[in-house]
Amino acid sequence: MTIAISGNGISRGIAIGPVHRLERGEIEVYEASIHADLIEDEVARFRRAVRTARQQLKAIRNSIPDSTPVDITDFIDTHLLMLEDGMLTVAPVDLIRQHQCNAEWALKIQRDTLAQVFDQMDDPYLRTRVDDVDHVVTRILRILIGENATDTPGDSLRGAIAFAHDLTPAEAALLYHQGIAGFVTESGGPLSHTAILARSLGLPAIVGTHVTPHQIRDGDTVILDGMQGMLLADVDEDTLKEYRERQRTQQKRSADLNRLRNKPAVTTDGTHIHLMANVELSDDVRAARRAGADGVGLYRTEFLFMNRDDVPGEEEQLEEYLKIVKALKGLPITIRTLDLGADKSFSAHTSEHIAPNPALGLRAIRLCLKHTELFRPQLRAILRASAKGPVHLMIPMLSNAQELNEVLHLIESVKQELQRERLAFDWNIPIGGMIEVPAAALSASLFARKLDFLSIGTNDLIQYTLAIDRIDDAVTYLYDPLHPAVLRLIRMVIDAGLHHEVPVAMCGEMAGDPRYTRLLLGMGLSDFSVHPTSLLEVKDVINRSRIDDLKTGVARILDEEDPLRIHEMVKALNEA
Ligand code: PEP
Ligand code: MG
Repeated sequence: MTIAISGNGISRGIAIGPVHRLERGEIEVYEASIHADLIEDEVARFRRAVRTARQQLKAIRNSIPDSTPVDITDFIDTHLLMLEDGMLTVAPVDLIRQHQCNAEWALKIQRDTLAQVFDQMDDPYLRTRVDDVDHVVTRILRILIGENATDTPGDSLRGAIAFAHDLTPAEAALLYHQGIAGFVTESGGPLSHTAILARSLGLPAIVGTHVTPHQIRDGDTVILDGMQGMLLADVDEDTLKEYRERQRTQQKRSADLNRLRNKPAVTTDGTHIHLMANVELSDDVRAARRAGADGVGLYRTEFLFMNRDDVPGEEEQLEEYLKIVKALKGLPITIRTLDLGADKSFSAHTSEHIAPNPALGLRAIRLCLKHTELFRPQLRAILRASAKGPVHLMIPMLSNAQELNEVLHLIESVKQELQRERLAFDWNIPIGGMIEVPAAALSASLFARKLDFLSIGTNDLIQYTLAIDRIDDAVTYLYDPLHPAVLRLIRMVIDAGLHHEVPVAMCGEMAGDPRYTRLLLGMGLSDFSVHPTSLLEVKDVINRSRIDDLKTGVARILDEEDPLRIHEMVKALNEA
């Protein structure tokens, strides 16, 4: 009978192959007291284990081909740095001496202390960093207990689905190079480095399954659906055939779409559409270029501020922005100023104020205007980057005229400061605003009059219009881009842009969902900024659409109030 296991599907794609268990089980650690005369021997044993762990990690790093993206080797470097850090090298030694206990126990106490510190962090991303500590601690423990901790489980991995309790990013990278088709882990969350890595490698994977039934044995053929977060074992021939067919369809589809990479996005009645990419890290630009993006329509700079204890200064930010400008080779980039707050807080600023309702609190431009010591260096860095390429500056979460005037005034004063210092920048750098608060959409004309471009952030616009916290699973079912109120607000922004001859883009997830492409084209949207992995899907729809044919259907949809009818009408529009 089919066994189905669900977890967090962290990257798309279907993988079918034999199970290869890497499971070594969790390590039980017991306390043992050490005689006073032998304490320094125990300390030496611990230090030897740390040294061996370092050697192992360096060996893994050296075995990874140069072509591997830097973010992968970064993970391994992070673990190497942890092995140099006093929190894992000095503190356990103090504990061995203090408690006169075995090295394993001292390491466990220190691990639990660190886990508590991470657990108290507000930032969900930083909270998941305890995984990194665990990976490093486990490596040292395995060495201490004499278990073979090598990361090279053999050559039999090509095409296999690796099963593990957990995988370090280093292990995942190595398994990828050994040809695994996908992996499943019992622990781990969708924000872990291992998950990020799987996504960037395009490796189908599921994490956090909690259990792996023992009936699933090495060599059994299983189906891993990374999109649905579903693993199927002991399947009958018909199911296997069906998934093989789906897998072939997916592979064929992405091969077909690849042919569009160098083709422009243009409707059959000749309207050219700007199809830009959203990027979070400077390394994502590679994916944007591979997908043939016309540029970057949203660079979320806050990721540069996360996962660290200090604030990146002007020079560091400039260097990072210039990396992207250079990689884009003349294509435009819209750099969004910091959108910190709500679910995107960072250590250097979280301690200060815990908002009772973070999404409605001091977030994005509100936080930046209150903390100009944070904002000015960023504005200086963005402006200075504009001397080297077509940089646009974009302000998130604007909600009223006073705020807008204040930002524009601040930008002007920073420009004058740079001029006094004889630092180069583009005086005419286009300045745009994100429309993601209903108040801003309702008064879009005000923003269109004073700004060079607008960009609709549907992720927040939907959250604030429908009063549903976008990170709260309990209300996800209410998150509806086709809610008539949302559609009306989008239309108002597009119309305000057309009226004032100011370009309007959309950079929220809605822009990257091919189910909405025709609707948005019919509403007059001609600038889309989407995740690189969705870009070709959206381009495909654009290149098969005729705007003139969409207008009547879209006008009817915008007049409709029944959500079910709207969904049906949008479906019909896509099938026409
Ligand atoms: C949005 O709100 O749609 C958007 C693009 O910004 P973010 O998702 O970063 O809040
Ligand atoms: Mg937003």
